[in-house]
Amino acid sequence: MQVEVRGLDAGYGPVPVLTGLDLTIPSGALAAVLGQSGSGKTTLLRALAGFLRPTAGTIHFGERLVVGPGTFVPPEKRKVGIVPQEGALFPHLDVTDNVAFGLPRGSQARVDEVLDLVGMRDFAHARPHDLSGGQQQRIALARALAPEPDVVLLDEPFTALDANLRQRLRAEVRDVLREVGTTAILVTHDQEEALSTADLVAVMRDGRLVQVGTPLEVYDAPADLGVARFVGEAVELPARAVGGDLVACPLGDVPVRGAVQGEAVVILRPEQLVLSCPVAVTDAQDTPQPGRGVVREASYHGHDSLVRVELADGSVVPVRVPGGTPPPLPGDEVVVGVTGSGRVYPV
Ligand code: ADP
Repeated sequence: MQVEVRGLDAGYGPVPVLTGLDLTIPSGALAAVLGQSGSGKTTLLRALAGFLRPTAGTIHFGERLVVGPGTFVPPEKRKVGIVPQEGALFPHLDVTDNVAFGLPRGSQARVDEVLDLVGMRDFAHARPHDLSGGQQQRIALARALAPEPDVVLLDEPFTALDANLRQRLRAEVRDVLREVGTTAILVTHDQEEALSTADLVAVMRDGRLVQVGTPLEVYDAPADLGVARFVGEAVELPARAVGGDLVACPLGDVPVRGAVQGEAVVILRPEQLVLSCPVAVTDAQDTPQPGRGVVREASYHGHDSLVRVELADGSVVPVRVPGGTPPPLPGDEVVVGVTGSGRVYPV
């Protein structure tokens, strides 16, 4: 079911948190609302769930108006399922009773169905304290899905889990949500989680959505410098337009997408940078080779190494060197080249 938010204002007391917020989530999509702490993600979630009464704007679930002038559908009538951060299960009830909670009597078949869906049927009679954090979150998802909600809201549901489990569980949750086809909204401050899990990423800053797009769009074509810095690691260099689609920057002349004039900032991603050995001789004017620099730090991560190179102008750029190649050592002279194109923004 499509979720449509138009011109939404919401806050606590006189100070608004969300102002004029617009968001459309197509039916069946998983949208991530991504933003730093305090940007207003939870406030949006609460407005969608019905725990907070917006002061202006509308929210539609499909054709149904749930928030609007003179309309405020209470949480229990919204057909919304919620997966909170953690600790959502009743400790004194077993898994079956937790999932059946709030369902009409005689819903055992539905409980079995959702437990199958999340791969937890074997744990039907376990108590929450016998389950791992990841298993508990799967039960929380099963419980949210059991009443066949129109919309599922997930409030940082993986935060309390360790890194490996988090990755696995978010893929599982995404697959389950795809299978049932329920429209879902995931609130997260973790850009990697948003990019890897969602169909649509809505980047929130100071109570506004600054960009809504596919993971590829927000990573590859950030709407502004703030989004570029927040979504993934950004290599940020001073640049100057030199005609055509080129800017001059400390890495030499780099092709860019986006219009630019005069002074600007160019953004590249670390995986666009490649290291090579410096050529011994520079040209007749003794102009330094563009991109030439000195390795200041190299950290090994198995799948790759992150090498920080200080360029001639003092800028330090991170470069990812694929695993399997020994990374250069601090003090080594290198040349940083660029593949693909950058994005430019006004200063
Ligand atoms: P996020 O979920 O992105 O961390 P929140 O929606 O929780 O952000 O908070 C947005 C802003 O609203 C913050 O400035 C926060 O201090 C404020 N805020 C959140 N909850 C309340 C509340 N219950 N009363 C007053 N202000 C609040």
